[in-house]
Amino acid sequence: MNKRTFIRLFAALMASPVFSPLLTWASDNKLTNWAGNLEYGTDRLYSANSVEQVQNYVRKQSKLKVLGTRHCFNNIADSTDNLLSLRSMDEVVALDSDAHTVTVNAGMTYGQLCPYLDSKGFALHNLASLPHISVAGACSTATHGSGEKNGNLATAASALEMVTAAGELVELSRKRDGEVFRGAVVGLGSLGVITKITLDIQPTYMMRQYVYENLPLPAVKEHFDAIESSGYSVSLFTDWQNQRINEVWIKSREEKGQAFDPTPEFFGAKRATRNLHPIAELSAENCTEQMGMPGPWYERLPHFRMGFTPSAGKELQSEYFVPRQHAVEAILAVERLRDQVSPHLMISEIRAIAADDLWMSPCYEQACVTIHFTWKQDWPAVRKLLPVIEKELAPFSARPHWGKLFTTSPTTLKSIYQKLPDFVQLSNKYDPQGKFRNQFLNTNIFS
Ligand SMILES: Cc1cc2nc3c(=O)[nH]c(=O)nc-3n(C[C@H](O)[C@H](O)[C@H](O)COP(=O)(O)OP(=O)(O)OC[C@H]3O[C@@H](n4cnc5c(N)ncnc54)[C@H](O)[C@@H]3O)c2cc1C
Repeated sequence: MNKRTFIRLFAALMASPVFSPLLTWASDNKLTNWAGNLEYGTDRLYSANSVEQVQNYVRKQSKLKVLGTRHCFNNIADSTDNLLSLRSMDEVVALDSDAHTVTVNAGMTYGQLCPYLDSKGFALHNLASLPHISVAGACSTATHGSGEKNGNLATAASALEMVTAAGELVELSRKRDGEVFRGAVVGLGSLGVITKITLDIQPTYMMRQYVYENLPLPAVKEHFDAIESSGYSVSLFTDWQNQRINEVWIKSREEKGQAFDPTPEFFGAKRATRNLHPIAELSAENCTEQMGMPGPWYERLPHFRMGFTPSAGKELQSEYFVPRQHAVEAILAVERLRDQVSPHLMISEIRAIAADDLWMSPCYEQACVTIHFTWKQDWPAVRKLLPVIEKELAPFSARPHWGKLFTTSPTTLKSIYQKLPDFVQLSNKYDPQGKFRNQFLNTNIFS
């Protein structure tokens, strides 16, 4: 039995809805995701350079998945048949300064788009922790940053162009297509191949980033709302040890009335005296500038700088969305698991996200707080731990991040996504034979 057969068999034996055994050792010369924990089920990868090529390819294949920038930790982007990449289709198609929109080809990353937008005097409303990811892939999984007034990145999408399973080109827009559009944006890659995406933009802005160390947990309990609303985007990093939040990252816009007052103390935490990495032992060189240094939005909203490795690199990630009103209870519930969690954890991050109206967004009609885990790359251990965390968060109907590792059952997913049946119908409309479905979608959405 060769390595590949072994991996396939191992995957088949795993009862989890998420296939992600630790495969780093087998990934030499193989196509893997960014973290290296998943070897894709095929190395048949076709790279398209035009919409026509996408259409022809889709017409010819009976099964395929689109790969973005491969930053998901689970098998949502995986295929055992064919993979299609649009990475070379990475141009800005149109900047409409009157309508305040930008249209980009689907292979574009935020790292490519943001400096361009800024040079034209525009900005996006928010960014994830890293700019390295594709716009289409991020919107497809409801990728988010932080900020209680900021929707996830998909909420900026106002139009999509997509190739359906029949190879036809469909255009959907927020204005014209209402509910159908709201169903399609967080599409989990199951409706078709997004070829273009239009995003809302706004005038460019400057930001400052401040970091505080050692926020006592009792302060979080008592002042959570005040802490979360202290900046445009707030992140709390904790290892769940010693009843404290290790680092508070406050990203503040420069505009009048929005600027954060960087007092030396913040609810008992102390202002940092140097740039920090969320994982304190790692070099802050990879991180965006802190210490209140003013800079453009796209160099402050992400935690990590383009051109540098984001996060730790060799890691796994999980994240759960809980309704904002249960934030403190949920944080305390995870804190009670600290002795189980800590041995496998690099760092956790707590963020806030505004409610939206996108069907498959974890923030659909509910403002959320997310509890994120950057794990050491030990899948067998993490695999055992996730159900324990999910059980603690179940009373809050926690929704897992679509692009990260979870063991939440398909039945539970159905019960917490009220629009899931409509989403299935919408997928059937554009992809009646399940051309874009894979193990992840068949298990979690279409089972
Ligand atoms: C270091 C690190 C930090 C992260 N930080 C954050 C964070 O701050 N916030 C957060 O929410 N997430 C975060 N993530 C998760 C990740 O960014 C998202 O899950 C996102 O989907 C990755 O985009 P991608 O293009 O790499 O997706 P991929 O893994 O390549 O694909 C994701 C899904 O999108 C689909 N897709 C991609 N392109 C297309 C297309 N053109 N048409 C149709 N479907 C398409 C794929 O088929 C798949 O279903 C992080 C991940 C890493 C590795």
